[in-house]
Amino acid sequence: MVRDLEAALGDRIQSLEWMSDATRARALEKLHAFEEKIGYPSTWRDYAGVPIARAGLIADHYACAQWEAKRNAGKIGKPVDRGEWFMTPPTVNAFYSATLNSINFPAGILQPPFFDPSWDDAVNYGGIGAVIGHEMTHGFDDRGRQFDAKGNLEDWWTADDAARYKQRSDRVADQFSSYTVLDTLHLNGRLTLGENTADLGGIAVAYHALRKALARKPAGPIDGFTPEQRFFLSYARVWASKQRPAQLRTQVQTNPHSPAMWRVNGPLSNLSEFQQAFGCKEGDPMVRSAELRARIW
Ligand SMILES: [Zn+2]
Repeated sequence: MVRDLEAALGDRIQSLEWMSDATRARALEKLHAFEEKIGYPSTWRDYAGVPIARAGLIADHYACAQWEAKRNAGKIGKPVDRGEWFMTPPTVNAFYSATLNSINFPAGILQPPFFDPSWDDAVNYGGIGAVIGHEMTHGFDDRGRQFDAKGNLEDWWTADDAARYKQRSDRVADQFSSYTVLDTLHLNGRLTLGENTADLGGIAVAYHALRKALARKPAGPIDGFTPEQRFFLSYARVWASKQRPAQLRTQVQTNPHSPAMWRVNGPLSNLSEFQQAFGCKEGDPMVRSAELRARIW
């Protein structure tokens, strides 16, 4: 699936009408240099030197912190270990590292509701596929795009391409700033720009990859839903959740991730693929008019 998603993002970069060939070549170079970390590290960290005793929880905690500080200080003056893992295998999360140009999917997220080997492609691509696309897109969001294929801070964009990128991402920021979460509290489109860009790009790339998978292995409706519909249902199911207003208020003011409902309705209302899958008409609540849609990748 990771390879499928990379091929899909490659196709899309190739056909971006707003990007010059010079920047395109650098974007593709960066995409092809992604280091993929999936499941668990190839070498396990040795914790043998950490003194753990049943006698005291606090003492154990300090011992761990001390050991970890020493381990980190030990990196000084040594070459970068590109194989290092920053999440434990059971963690239910994923991330992109701009300084290593790596995408990371611990074993913990490779299970329902994101992924199950027994599910059909549409459901897996809408679940973990969108997560894979999300992390890949972080390499090209407002922050990630400032790093090169090796993970060095370098501006590899022509001035015109950077200006066009900014124009497109401003639209994403404005869209999300216009959402009202609670009474008069709006989402902060600037705070959440990178994550919203990654959601929007990730779902589009995952859908593109699903088309490739379906071309290899055609599939029909299940329980009355087409593969395309199941893809979007799977994406929405991942985010199905409920929050108290106070928690929502804290998230909106401090967290770069939009609350779950907007992570679904925000990106999908920009996608003609979603509109087609469910036969929505122009003017329907989940269909943004064509001239207001955002699309970067
Ligand atoms: Zn993210």
